[in-house]
Amino acid sequence: MLHSVEAARAGAVLTVDLGAVRANYRQLAAMARARCAAVMKADAYGLGMEQVAPALAQEGCTVFFTAHLDEGIRLRPLLGPGCAIYVLHGPPPGTAGDCAAHGLVPVLNDPGQLHEWRALARALGRELQAAIQLDTGMSRMGIAPADLAALSADPGWLDGLRPVLVMSHLASADEPAHPMNAAQRERFERLRAILPGVPASLANSSGIFLGPDYHYDLLRPGAALYGINPQPGNPNPLRQAVSLHARVVQVRTAIDGDVVGYGCHHVVAGARRIATVSIGYADGWLRSLSGRGQARIGGQVVPVVGRVSMDSMGLDVTGVPDSLVQPGAEVELLGPTLTVDDVAAAAGTIGYEVLTRLGSRFHRRYR
Ligand SMILES: *Cc1c(COP(=O)(O)O)cnc(C)c1O
Repeated sequence: MLHSVEAARAGAVLTVDLGAVRANYRQLAAMARARCAAVMKADAYGLGMEQVAPALAQEGCTVFFTAHLDEGIRLRPLLGPGCAIYVLHGPPPGTAGDCAAHGLVPVLNDPGQLHEWRALARALGRELQAAIQLDTGMSRMGIAPADLAALSADPGWLDGLRPVLVMSHLASADEPAHPMNAAQRERFERLRAILPGVPASLANSSGIFLGPDYHYDLLRPGAALYGINPQPGNPNPLRQAVSLHARVVQVRTAIDGDVVGYGCHHVVAGARRIATVSIGYADGWLRSLSGRGQARIGGQVVPVVGRVSMDSMGLDVTGVPDSLVQPGAEVELLGPTLTVDDVAAAAGTIGYEVLTRLGSRFHRRYR
């Protein structure tokens, strides 16, 4: 795997399987009659927006979401003019002009954003597209029901605007039995009646798996495109999109009572072979994997021992043939059987955090 010179010099290599991302997009899009968008925030969840966005456009994706305005500005030149880019946070105060100038559609989340976008439409003397987000109970982003009622009491509340999407976001879609799902859907139904005929969107990755009642006109998956399991506890129907390999820096024999790593938390019992591997928390390999993570070397799964350091960590490779654990030997950290969700479970977090933390320090390869 560590073929090229750049790869051989780097501490670790992140391989992004664009074919898997594309296959995941096709699979999700085929689940609904709705259109399927792609969420690109946080550099396509760490996989690299520059590569992922055009790959999905080739799959027929024409609607993209970023979180921040600057992400949308970076995404714009990667896509053709026929693609729509929505900025989920809306323009920060004072930036509506930038948003319009770059051909981005803001998601308007509160009365202030709505007023600013309308003022810009007036100043430009042309109609501006807008997505309207409604808060259906998550209390994160979106116009609150009371604000919506107050706004819409003014018949001109959308003057100068062309609403092209009405959306909301589910708080508990990864727990299909959670009553919040149906409650939010009902609130969405009730609130969106104020925007008749406007295309609607409710489902993130997990929301798609809640069934057709949640699909509306546009699906908004992020995580599932990148291989995170949208139905925790069930087999993952999607393909892993990343693999991560580091290398052995050094191997030693430790004897009874020796300690491994900072803080002396791992005490060796008996004679063990310990490999130091070139990845640490500065690479986004979470420090909470100390003493809990796993890796694969020479076909065997071995445990992380001791604390994860900034640039390295220890593996107990006792039992792996010496010939396979030499300096330079490849160590798999993420792959088909060491999934993003497995690593997340060991680290006490979610796959989203594992993926989005993977640093820019790696050598990256795209397949
Ligand atoms: C992040 C996000 C998504 C995508 O969610 P996934 O769970 O990654 O599919 C969709 N909609 C909104 C509003 C988001 O913030």
